[in-house]
Amino acid sequence: MAFPPLDDPRLEVLVGWYAHAADLLADIMSRLLDTPIAARFPLFQRAQLILRQLQERTDRWATFNVRRFYEEADQEAVKILRRSNLGQFLTEGLDQEAIDAVTSGLLGPLEKARQSVEFQATKLFRSTSLASEFQSLALKARRNIPTGLTSGEEAIALEREIASSLRQIFSQNIVSILGSDGRRHRFGLDFYSAMVAQNVRAQAGATAAIIRARQTGHDLVRISPQKSLTGDWCDAYRGRVFSLSGTSPTYPWIGLIPNGGPPFHPWCRHSMSIFIPSLYSEAQQRAFAETQSRFLMRPNEKSPNRVIHNWNEAVKLESNPAPLRAL
Ligand SMILES: [Zn+2]
Repeated sequence: MAFPPLDDPRLEVLVGWYAHAADLLADIMSRLLDTPIAARFPLFQRAQLILRQLQERTDRWATFNVRRFYEEADQEAVKILRRSNLGQFLTEGLDQEAIDAVTSGLLGPLEKARQSVEFQATKLFRSTSLASEFQSLALKARRNIPTGLTSGEEAIALEREIASSLRQIFSQNIVSILGSDGRRHRFGLDFYSAMVAQNVRAQAGATAAIIRARQTGHDLVRISPQKSLTGDWCDAYRGRVFSLSGTSPTYPWIGLIPNGGPPFHPWCRHSMSIFIPSLYSEAQQRAFAETQSRFLMRPNEKSPNRVIHNWNEAVKLESNPAPLRAL
């Protein structure tokens, strides 16, 4: 599964480990499918060892790098605040609790991903019949089996068919995660680790900005102005300013935009920085306030679906304007 470029060598290191582990694990899983049950244990142990090493590397990587991501954004926030009269309220040191919270946003999902792989390896290790262990695959596989076989031949053909689907799944999308929509989603280990790490880096940046703003009693933050890679709905908020408390007479409350600000969605490249009005012209200050109300969620509205729908409609209209009617 291809994914956007990572633009940070630190992310590439982590994703490289996961990509390498994915290759080794796909090979082990494939060999488990060919190996009689009594001889499977060494293979299963090998899979467990790879996953354990991956966990240790992930833990070390996270302890070191999430702190760096946070620190970089923190320095940026401090620099901006020093240019205002709020610099006097700055304190030394980083908020360890905030860093820990962001770190667990990386460790939790990656642990789930590794557990899902281990769970599938366990199933292969113990299984005497793939058809009973992987019932939904068996259902699909049955359709590909020719009619007129004896029941013994049919069982063998079915096992072979399921094994071939599993080989494909393990080589491409070995991770199986239950989504918030209640459905299972499959990813490659490299894709999933890249998505999570990229998101956590963005999360570290946004958190550092918010914590510094709160510490100095500053209320305004600005979403980075660049266009998203794919013209996503988060472009509705790019370059706009929001109020953390919701008490600003000019700028909308940040709680009214999806996810409470960036990262808005997986792979979102938007960030958030401290906004000091006096550093901008009055025209800019006004322009930054102009988030259209149809792109703001209502207080207590849980899902961002309505505002995303509004954005998609607006984009459609723009690229496909209604034809001029003849007079
Ligand atoms: Zn974005």
